[in-house]
Amino acid sequence: MKKSEQKKFIKVLNENRRKLIDNARRALTGDVHLDPNDFPDEIDTASSEAGLAFIGRLRERERALIQKIDMALRKIDDGSYGICASCEEDIGLERLTARPVADLCIDCKSQQERLGH
Ligand SMILES: [Zn+2]
Repeated sequence: MKKSEQKKFIKVLNENRRKLIDNARRALTGDVHLDPNDFPDEIDTASSEAGLAFIGRLRERERALIQKIDMALRKIDDGSYGICASCEEDIGLERLTARPVADLCIDCKSQQERLGH
């Protein structure tokens, strides 16, 4: 991956991280705001849920996503970002742009989903 592309993903990942932390902070103070467009893969049914269960789940998902973002940033650092964790092929810029925390290529991801993991 080119340096200019890495920089772009560092920026996107840091922005996503900041948004998640902002959301978590608002959730803690009772003003829950969640933009489902931020992470369509992860937060797909959240808007249909309500109450404490929703906030609990939201925070759990935010924590998990923040960990994924941190991992992606570390991978950019060590040069392994954008490489599939399973087959070691390039994940592809299109997929990474849609989902910057992706660590599997689309083939391995669909295979994983078929196996129910
Ligand atoms: Zn793969």
